[in-house]
Amino acid sequence: MNISHIEHIGIAVKNLEESIAFYEDVLGLTCYSIEEVADQKVRTAFFMLGKTKVELLESTDPEGPIGKFIEKKGEGVHHMAFAVKDIENALSGLENKGIRLIDKTPRKGAEGLDIAFLHPKSTHGVLMELCEDKNES
Ligand code: ZN
Repeated sequence: MNISHIEHIGIAVKNLEESIAFYEDVLGLTCYSIEEVADQKVRTAFFMLGKTKVELLESTDPEGPIGKFIEKKGEGVHHMAFAVKDIENALSGLENKGIRLIDKTPRKGAEGLDIAFLHPKSTHGVLMELCEDKNES
């Protein structure tokens, strides 16, 4: 597997607008994109820090993954995403090593990236996401 950098950190928030205000007014970052990902029942806001982004996630449905996460654990870090080359190959390599995959094949995530999640039971407790920007490579 070929990880080049941390693509983003995903953070679950209750209110996207209030959270954006914190990241902009207190941390001095600039939100460059707000996008709804219907598939994952979230609205997302992105901030760029070098090559790495912060992705804020607000649930659009209490039954969605972020809605359930917030109900159980409250706001906080939700997942960590690695930028990889050849995500299909990375997934099959992980599967061969017995790693539990949430997505066996990539799907479309925010910003048009191909993404797939690994199960935290196989990664020492961290929900991990692989991302590939096919437009870039
Ligand atoms: Zn993500």
